[in-house]
Amino acid sequence: MPLGAKSKSIEIWNGVIEKCEKKLARWKTQHLSMGGRLTLINSVLNALPTYMMSLFPILSGVIKKLDRIRRNFLWQGNSEKKRFHLVKWESVVTRKKNGGLGIKKLIFQSEALRMKWLWRYSFEDQLMWKRVVGAKYEAEDSWMTKDVTSPYGVSLWRSIRELWEEVKLNSKVKVGNGNKTKFWKDEWHESGNLELLFPDIYNLVLSQQRTIAEIWTTQGWNFQFRRHLNDWEVMRVAEFLNIVGNFNGLQAEEDALWWKGSSKGIFKVGAAYRLMEQRSQQIPIWPWRQIWKGRISYKVSCFIWLLAKEAALTQDNVMKRGITLCSRCFLCGETSETVNHLFLHCKFTQQLWRVFLSLKGISWAMPRRITEALKSWEEAGVLAKDRTRWRIIPASICVVNGALKPWNKTQNMLSASPRLLCASVLSSRL
Ligand SMILES: [Zn+2]
Repeated sequence: MPLGAKSKSIEIWNGVIEKCEKKLARWKTQHLSMGGRLTLINSVLNALPTYMMSLFPILSGVIKKLDRIRRNFLWQGNSEKKRFHLVKWESVVTRKKNGGLGIKKLIFQSEALRMKWLWRYSFEDQLMWKRVVGAKYEAEDSWMTKDVTSPYGVSLWRSIRELWEEVKLNSKVKVGNGNKTKFWKDEWHESGNLELLFPDIYNLVLSQQRTIAEIWTTQGWNFQFRRHLNDWEVMRVAEFLNIVGNFNGLQAEEDALWWKGSSKGIFKVGAAYRLMEQRSQQIPIWPWRQIWKGRISYKVSCFIWLLAKEAALTQDNVMKRGITLCSRCFLCGETSETVNHLFLHCKFTQQLWRVFLSLKGISWAMPRRITEALKSWEEAGVLAKDRTRWRIIPASICVVNGALKPWNKTQNMLSASPRLLCASVLSSRL
């Protein structure tokens, strides 16, 4: 941990960037497929900045640098030559379910990591760090310090404390002995925050700051009102008592925060990350199971992903990048070459598809896009006896087809030789 440096200075991140570059230099001597590179990014490059990110808010300049490193490694690998980046980075750093490669978005990851401190603050009462922070900033309630408003010497906790609203929104209180939970202020009841649900009654009660332990008695709730109730208020109070009447009583353990996003109520950085990601985008249909969950090797998955994104280097995509050529399908020569033509509609490719379809006696209208084809293939195979085998057929067709084309070598997508690959696909996996 850097001591004495300002938490907002870029220098404290230099070590992380250097480490990433060193790792890369070592990998550059190896020959890796896209699948291999993706694995290294997700396992190693994503993990390197974790320690720093769990304390300091990551700066946009640092994100840019780290993204450039990860991006170049994904698309260029060990090559010194510049290669095309086939899919937009924004789209690469989303979940596989939503159409990305599952590479972590650093801004979300950094927030999720820092949220962990807020979570720990809520229950690590005996630990020194909590007592120091708690004494310095004073308690807002049983779970958090007051908001940090002073501008001096507080930047570390301030940037963490800023995320509290997000944590609070996604957690509720699980009542144990009732000592920490404020009856009105904390969200502990399944219906929600009682102050917001019953503002009229909240205004009627005598001590609004009381904890559950202070109000609960062995005979039930003991509320004290400021004055006698009017006739029209009695019904409302009855309704309120009915709602809170299902309370099960106090338990032996301490009250604790309960994270809504997990079945055990425990905060997980990964779950918090997904939560933030979910808010940012939603893609309607993406055949992620067919791409990532089949029994196919990782590099083949990556290749199918590129096809589904319609981003493989077919001639139309080459031309989009400003290279002039006369686009003709390299198999049939009859029409311009696009991903969907080459892998679905080309008359030679169609023959491959038909082989498998006729084996199962399925009639099939070829869909327009790869994503649709993957989806309807899955649906067509619902009744198939061996669904895992069924699922890998489209991938196999694409691999056989793709391996014929010379650009796979230059893109380092499928690093084995085409003939070997076809043989292995056809013999061992089908
Ligand atoms: Zn063709």
